[in-house]
Amino acid sequence: MEQAAPLINLMNLDRHGLEDYFESIGEKRYRAHQLLKWIYHHGVTDFLGMTDVGKKLRAKLEATAVIRPPKVLFQKVSSDGTTKWLIELDGGNAVETVYIPEPTRGTLCVSSQVGCSLNCTFCSTATQGFNRNLSTAEIIGQVWVAARALGHDAKDNRRLTNVVMMGMGEPLLNFDNVVPAMNLMRDDFAFGLANKRVTLSTAGLVPGIDKLSEVCDVSLAVSLHAPTDELREQLVPLNKKYPIAELMAACQRYLETRPRANVTFEYTLMKGINDRPEHARGLVKLLRRLPSKLNLIPFNPFPGTRYERSDEETIRQFQTIVMEAGLIATVRRTRGDDIDAACGQLVGTVLDRTRRSSQHRAAVALADAGVGA
Ligand code: SAH
Repeated sequence: MEQAAPLINLMNLDRHGLEDYFESIGEKRYRAHQLLKWIYHHGVTDFLGMTDVGKKLRAKLEATAVIRPPKVLFQKVSSDGTTKWLIELDGGNAVETVYIPEPTRGTLCVSSQVGCSLNCTFCSTATQGFNRNLSTAEIIGQVWVAARALGHDAKDNRRLTNVVMMGMGEPLLNFDNVVPAMNLMRDDFAFGLANKRVTLSTAGLVPGIDKLSEVCDVSLAVSLHAPTDELREQLVPLNKKYPIAELMAACQRYLETRPRANVTFEYTLMKGINDRPEHARGLVKLLRRLPSKLNLIPFNPFPGTRYERSDEETIRQFQTIVMEAGLIATVRRTRGDDIDAACGQLVGTVLDRTRRSSQHRAAVALADAGVGA
């Protein structure tokens, strides 16, 4: 017996992909625009509700496709208005998405992978291990879910103005699914955000940064966290593969190819680890010639971590040193930590396939017992 082809989830396709899809079923490419507006402006996922789509086309769509956003397991609202959604994926996995309202903007922090494979020693997602990449539908679906829950309207009620790919996972290791999702965030037929208001955050995957510059004009955030290779290797093991000098050169190239894009460096301040005046001065040397901003993030603790947040006074001193030397540096206010929604606290539910979570727990236990590094 002939097997029916599986239904394609149209949320996996950006505008270009959807145009190709319509062509493949013998329809005009502009149909893609109609469909995008139904899904992303009106939140309609049932072809029946698409009143300007004729009966014949509707039948064709129903035979070949579905529109399937991910399901929400729960929504939690923090005392400061920060909202976190736990998004259900297949097979018992789940990821987290966080909305951070501010007086002049609303930022959504989106996950790109179930867990993470990079093992940064100060990040709680690393303790969860890694399961898989998210699909485009699962990434843009997080924006879709938040927009619906917030009553976001692209015209009258823009609750959502910025998206940062700073949730769980390393977005550049899921390049092929992240790029179409970021295209939809910036497409006027979908969420219509300005290029600069979509930010991809990376632990420093040099070839990925170069590849990104070829296809996208989004803002780039780079997780630096240390001014020397020796220290950065301890915090971000990926530094062994792509040391600081190579990373800085890649950021420079990104700015040359994408002169309108913003580059921000993230620096999580951990007590006694990377928060001394000499670290601040090292950072100044590194960033002086790169038109960029520095975002200082007070470390957010999580169960089992060996790191602590720097004192307020130390953070202020650090900021003063870099600012007096001419860098633009802001301190990220901690938001949503009463619901575990702050940076580095997102864990979701990861069915670890790498055994990394148990290795990580064992390493932390040994370190806590004073054995090894
Ligand atoms: N993988 C990407 C995006 C995810 S993390 C990246 O590495 O950039 C988003 C930011 O939060 C990164 O700068 C990350 O280093 C930082 N972060 C991770 N754990 C943290 C913690 N416990 N406290 C504060 N910031 C943390």
